[in-house]
Formats: sequence, structure tokens, C-alpha cells
Amino acid sequence: MSDARLPLLIGSEIYRGSSYGPKHPLAIPRVPATLDLIRALGWLDPRRYLDSPLATTAQLTRYHTPDYVGALRRAEAEGAVSPEVRERHHIGAHGNPVFREVFRRPATGAGGAMLAARLTRAGGIVHVPGAGTHHALPNRASGFCYLNDPVLGLLQWLDLGLTNVLYVDIDAHHGDGVELAFRDDPRVFTLSVHESGRWPFTGRLEDRAGGHARNIPVPAGFNDTEMGQVLEAAILPILRHLRPQAVMLQCGADALEEDPLARLSLSNNAHRATVRAVMAEAPRLIVTGGGGYNPWTVARCWALVWGTLNGHPVPERLPPAAEAVLRGLSWDRAAGRDPPGHWSTTLLDPPRPGPVREEVVRACETVLEGLPEPPRPA
Ligand SMILES: [Zn+2]
Repeated sequence: MSDARLPLLIGSEIYRGSSYGPKHPLAIPRVPATLDLIRALGWLDPRRYLDSPLATTAQLTRYHTPDYVGALRRAEAEGAVSPEVRERHHIGAHGNPVFREVFRRPATGAGGAMLAARLTRAGGIVHVPGAGTHHALPNRASGFCYLNDPVLGLLQWLDLGLTNVLYVDIDAHHGDGVELAFRDDPRVFTLSVHESGRWPFTGRLEDRAGGHARNIPVPAGFNDTEMGQVLEAAILPILRHLRPQAVMLQCGADALEEDPLARLSLSNNAHRATVRAVMAEAPRLIVTGGGGYNPWTVARCWALVWGTLNGHPVPERLPPAAEAVLRGLSWDRAAGRDPPGHWSTTLLDPPRPGPVREEVVRACETVLEGLPEPPRPA
């Protein structure tokens, strides 16, 4: 691999000290803990790190409505919203609070995702752990997401001339906003693996958005062996059938066993295996973050993702500087008062194998039926 093709990491200091509010699941540090952990492991050559630009209004309105972007800017400037804005744009409501960086933080994720698309124009790999806000809608916030950075990154790829792009979403929640954005655009095929019966309650097995979307709802307790099945029997066959020019992998960390907002039971070995398999076959790859509400499991998972993209061997026990980053985390929940030792001393979880349930096998078979032919080059 030539130097130009070494993976790049896009981050920002906007996330440091930023919180959605003390009672919100996103009160926790995620990107700062991830970056600190990666640096403490000696895994970040400063030449491979880029500070995320803030997306401009012109860039954001490639997908979002001008009145919504304006409302988000005003919410940050004024620190409050009117009842009309709350009603119309769901800012300051439905889990989407007004907080200090309520415009700049999501606009940084968007700027990072769009930059990642430009940087991979000719190929390569970019990791943007601050991006992955897959629920946001054109004119309103949804599910802690204000701006849909995956959509904006995918649109940037299309605007650069790509015509065959695959979006794979392994967050515990359905990637509804991304599926919706491309439901009439066959250039982007969306594939989401998520817990069945969980918010936003969309993404049923039979939902195909005109043919170029697939959904794999999975049962509570979804284990590493089952995720291996989904990878080998659904994700990779779809990838090999479509032969996309580029893949965006939304790598939310909330499908991990210890996450408080979902009931899936993966270890981070599942995320590592998915990243490894997809990177081997994608000519261009953007890996984003996404959900993840346990600060230890998120930072370990996303640092592991970066290590995997770079082929770094994972130490069995973390070096003291890395352990110190994890020991320095705190979490205002019962499990955070006395975190298990391995959350701070290891990067890789013990594997969580289990039986492969019939519904998982069936879902993998079903999504392969009637796959469209890959879109033709422009
Ligand atoms: Zn999620």
C-alpha cells in the first residue's frame, strides 16, 4: 500500500467537553475518548489525522432545507427555540436538546463525512468516528441526529461522479434517514442490520425502498456467530453482487452487549470482522461512528476499528497510557460506578458466540432475493 492509500482519521476538538445535557445518553465523551485511546496506543501518525471542517450552509442544503439549517444555527446562537421550531423541526424536543454546540457539532460531522468522500475520490480509506448520524431528516432532527452526515457524504460521492455506492449500517437502530434519502436514487444501495422491534420501528425485512434497500432486523441477544452469518451470507454476497465503487460503513457501537439503549449482545470482535471483510473488497471506504452509549465500549470499539483499518496487532493488555484514558472515564449510570476491569485493561472483548437462530438465517436468504443489477457507470 502506497503512503497515499494509508487510512486517514478525521476528528475534531469540538466534541471535547460537548454534551447533550447531564441526563441525556449523549452526555458521555465518545470521540475524545476514542482519539485519546488511539493516540495512547501510538496508533496515530499526525500526518494521517485531519481536523474536520465545519460544513457550510451551501453544503448542508444539498440535503437539508434552508429553513431547518437556519433554525439550527439560531438555536445555537440563542440557546433556545420557540414552540414553533420545536414543533416543526424537533429541535429542543424528542431527545434532540438545544445544547452549546447544537449547530457546530453536527455540522462538523457533516463536514467530516463530506471531506472523507472528497479524499477518497480516487480510492482509499477514511475513518470519521464523529459522523454516523443516520436518523436526521431533511427538515427535522430525529433520534439525537440533527444533520444527516452519512447522506451528505454519500451525496458528495455522487456529486464527484460515482454511480454505484453501497451503504452498510450495523448500528443497533435502523438507518432510516439514509434509506429515506435514497429511496428514489438507485445509485445508492442501503443495507441496515438492526434490532427488530426497536425505535424507530422501521426497516422491516420486507421493506426495500423500490428495490435498492435491504433490511435485516435481528432478535435481542444477537451474538457474534449470528453477526458472522449476516456478514458471510448477506453483507458480502450483496457487496460482491453490486461491486460498488465505494462503501460507507456506519459502525455504531450500540449493538455491543454492554450498551444501555439496545439489547443486542455482540462483542467488538463482530465490528472488527465486519470492518476487515468490507475493507478487503471496497475500492473506497468511509467508516463512520454512530450510536453507542457506554463510554468504555464505544471508545474501545472505535479505537479497534481504527487499529483494524491500519492492520495493527491488538495488545492483550493495554499499555499504561491507554489504560489511563479508560480509567479516566466516568459514567452516570449504575454500571459506571464500578466498571469491570477489562473495560479499562483490554481493547478486544472476549468473543460472544452462540447459536444461529432460524430467523437470522431466513433473513439473510430473503435479502438476497431479487437483488437489482448494479447501476451502470455514467
Ligand atoms: Zn443506534
